[in-house]
Amino acid sequence: MNQIDNNNNIPTQEPQRQLYFIEKAGELVRQMEGQKGRRLTACIQTFGCQMNARDSEKLLGILEQVGFVESEREDADLVLYNTCTVRDNANQKVYGRLGYLNNLKKKNPDMLVALCGCMMQEPEVVAKIKKSYPFVDLIFGTHNIFKLAELLYERLQRKKMVIDIWDAAETIVEELPVERKYPFKSGVNIMFGCNNFCSYCIVPYVRGRERSRRPEDILAEIRRLAADGVVEIMLLGQNVNSYGKNLEQPMTFAQLLRQVGEIEEIKRIRFMTSHPKDLSEELIQAMKETPKVCRHLHLPLQSGSTRILQEMNRRYTKEQYLALVDRIRQAIPEISLTTDIIVGFPGETEEDFAETMDVVRQVRYDSAFTFIYSKRTGTPAAAMEHQVLQSAVKDRFARLLREVQTISAEVCGRDAGTVQKVLAESVDDHQEGFLTGRLDNNLIVHFPGTVDLIGSIVEVNLAESKGFYYMGSMIRS
Ligand code: SAM
Ligand code: SF4
Repeated sequence: MNQIDNNNNIPTQEPQRQLYFIEKAGELVRQMEGQKGRRLTACIQTFGCQMNARDSEKLLGILEQVGFVESEREDADLVLYNTCTVRDNANQKVYGRLGYLNNLKKKNPDMLVALCGCMMQEPEVVAKIKKSYPFVDLIFGTHNIFKLAELLYERLQRKKMVIDIWDAAETIVEELPVERKYPFKSGVNIMFGCNNFCSYCIVPYVRGRERSRRPEDILAEIRRLAADGVVEIMLLGQNVNSYGKNLEQPMTFAQLLRQVGEIEEIKRIRFMTSHPKDLSEELIQAMKETPKVCRHLHLPLQSGSTRILQEMNRRYTKEQYLALVDRIRQAIPEISLTTDIIVGFPGETEEDFAETMDVVRQVRYDSAFTFIYSKRTGTPAAAMEHQVLQSAVKDRFARLLREVQTISAEVCGRDAGTVQKVLAESVDDHQEGFLTGRLDNNLIVHFPGTVDLIGSIVEVNLAESKGFYYMGSMIRS
């Protein structure tokens, strides 16, 4: 126990404990503001997936309550990196940027540098930071982001590096402040962690076992968001299809989706990610019968070779994946499919790669995220023999990318000349007087419009397809 915990006035229950520390850290921040004669700024840099993006909104919510003003600049008074470790290049990027932060901190010794997220769950990373980057002030992991105010308070009191990494989540803390990036759309975590242990993937080790939030908490959060002007939500989980299995009163993701669909002010529902092995007929029906569910499904393939899929521990075959795609398209013909593919998994031969290309040609994805396999310490695949030669991987990667892009340019234009509902999201960066919006199937549309329309759903004639986006004109709002 540290000094802070010995003080009897501190609430032991969450979220009251964190609200207490928001107040206490806020007092210290106000003192520092008095000394500097200005507000203190905080910059959060997010690496990685939508889960991290949502975590960063929660972290910013806490920092703003403490008294910081958000900044985009890395010479802020507090810089927080919310890290990713899915592939090694994400780690390397963080180490590179830490060198830059060290220089900034030399110019401003009061600057605070904090690191959190998946990378910090790896003991060798924390050891390296302690040894090579001693100027870092605060390190915490994925399971205790809700504690930011408490940890910050501790750091400001103790004036030396604070490290707090948990091996597993003890609790899901509800109802802490959140600062959303967009006023009209929001991610909503429905579950945390993953139990699938795909053999290449580090996520189960750094995000822990699968835990579902209670449906009443999820629905209450979405109602609050709706009352605050949100019209589109993205339900987030590493594998949303296994939602609810570990609840006291188990329920399926399909049941949750239908309940979310009944919240009147919510006009669009997206979700991410669906593991093909768990995508049920019940879910296909729920998607079909809930018009607010967007006509877009991200269905990670990873490889088209049944042999490699088995080595990856994905628990479906090429044929099962293709049959699933057929069933989805029969039920919802207009659906857009996107995917993730890994090239160069250990032991992947030219024949295995040809199977992947075959699936890409058969499914004709709207788009695909293509990744070069990255060896992650501690995963079963890292110990596998026959790691593929880099030259072969690069060649396959280039061929896959070409195929994906060619198909994408062909299929993405299929709605040209039709009128579609578009959520106006932002001012178009490239053309004055234009807005940028998103179709139900996630494609981008640029069309003439005024700022007051941002956040509303308007009807747009998709006059011209430009391959990966459309140029259109509004019919009416
Ligand atoms: N839970 C999601 C799923 O199963 O699809 C995705 C999680 S992961 C953050 C996103 C993508 O990163 C995966 O779908 C996979 O394609 C890719 N990925 C994960 N581990 C990888 C590795 N070691 N090397 C290359 N790509 C990897
Ligand atoms: Fe990683 Fe597989 Fe879990 Fe996705 S389902 S997070 S790829 S282990």
